[in-house]
Amino acid sequence: MPTLAEVLEARTAGAAPELIEPLTKGRIRCYACGHECPIPEGAVGVCKVRFVRGGQLHVPWGYVGGVQCDPIEKKPFFHAHPGSLAYSFGMLGCDLHCSYCQNWVTSQALRDPSAVSAPTDVSPQALVSHARAVDARVVVSTYNEPLITSEWAVTIFREARAAGLMTAFVSNGNGTERVLNYLRPWIDLYKVDLKSFDDRHYRQLGGRIDPILFTIRRLHDMGIWIEIVTLLIPGFNDDPDELRRLTAFIASVSPDIPWHVTAFHKDYRMSDPENTTPEMLMEAAAIARDAGLRYVYAGKIPGRVGDLENTRCHGCSALLIERFGYLIRSYRLTREGTCPECGTAIPGRWGSAFGGQIASAPFLPGTRRLRMF
Ligand code: SF4
Repeated sequence: MPTLAEVLEARTAGAAPELIEPLTKGRIRCYACGHECPIPEGAVGVCKVRFVRGGQLHVPWGYVGGVQCDPIEKKPFFHAHPGSLAYSFGMLGCDLHCSYCQNWVTSQALRDPSAVSAPTDVSPQALVSHARAVDARVVVSTYNEPLITSEWAVTIFREARAAGLMTAFVSNGNGTERVLNYLRPWIDLYKVDLKSFDDRHYRQLGGRIDPILFTIRRLHDMGIWIEIVTLLIPGFNDDPDELRRLTAFIASVSPDIPWHVTAFHKDYRMSDPENTTPEMLMEAAAIARDAGLRYVYAGKIPGRVGDLENTRCHGCSALLIERFGYLIRSYRLTREGTCPECGTAIPGRWGSAFGGQIASAPFLPGTRRLRMF
C-alpha cells in the first residue's frame, strides 16, 4: 500500500521556470511561497509537496483533494459578484502549520497521519466544464494553500478564463514577487488571511509576517481585487493594540479593502482558547472603523453581530447589500456599481445587475442545485 506522499509523488510536473532559480551544489530555490526554500537534490520543501529529483523541481499536478460549490460569500468575497457560485477546488499540503486550521484534512495531509484526504485525478477541462454546468461564476483555488500549487491553479485558470469565468485564490498570502507576477495575468480575486500583526505569532505558525504584508501591498498595486480575513482567536491575536496596528496597516494600503473579522471555534489542535463571542467581533470591528477602514464585516456568527454582515455606502451610509450568513437578503447597487442614494462608487467587482443567488450554503457538485430568488 503506497503512502500518501508516494501517491502524490506520482502526480507532479516540472515547476514553472519563473518560480525557480538554480543554486550551487545542485540545489534549486523555489519562489512559490515566502519560504523561498533552497532545496537540495532528493529533498522536499517546507510544504512537503514540492521536491527536487533528477535536477528538477517537481510540483503538484493533475489532481484535486476536494471540490465543493460555495456561495462566494463563504470565501469570503463580499464585494465581488454577490450571490454567485464559487466552484472551489483544493489540492493537498500547506506551507504553514496553524494548530487551529479549519481545513486541516487537506492542508495538513502530509504532516498529520490523522488528516487523510485522497487525491482524485482530474483534467482542467473537466473541472471547468463542471463549473459551468453548475452555473459557477468564479473558479477558486482554496482548502489547501494555493500558492504552493500555483502551476496547477494557473493551468486551470487559463481554461476558466477562456470559458468566461473569473478566478480566485483563498490564501495565507505568504507570497513572493515572482509568484505574484506569475499569477497576475490569470487571477481576478485574492483573499488573504492576515492571521496576526505580530511576527512572533507568525513564527509559531511556521511563517513570517513580512511576506504577508508584502503580498497585500503588491496585490493592491497590481489591481487584483483583495479582501482580508482575520480569524479572531481570544488570547492569540485579540489584543486591542495589535488589532489597531493590523487594521491601520490595511487602511494604509487602501481604506477600501474589505476586512472580515471572523469567529474562532475550537478545532484541530487548538482547543484551549474560548470561542469568539459576537461582542469580541464587534469590538474588533470598532477598532477597524477607527483605523479608517470603510468596509468591515463580522463573520461566522450570523444574526448576532448587528449591522456587520451588511454593506453600507461609505458616502451616505445607505444600506446596499443585506446579508444573513451567506444569504443575500437584498441588493441595491446600481448597474454601474454605485450607491442608488448618493451615487458614490462602491469599491469591488460588481456585475451590471444582481443575478440572483445560486445557493446560500455549500454543496457538493452533483448533490443538489438550488437557485434562490
Ligand atoms: S512552495 Fe514554499 S514551502 Fe514549498 S518548496 Fe516552495 S518555497 Fe518551499
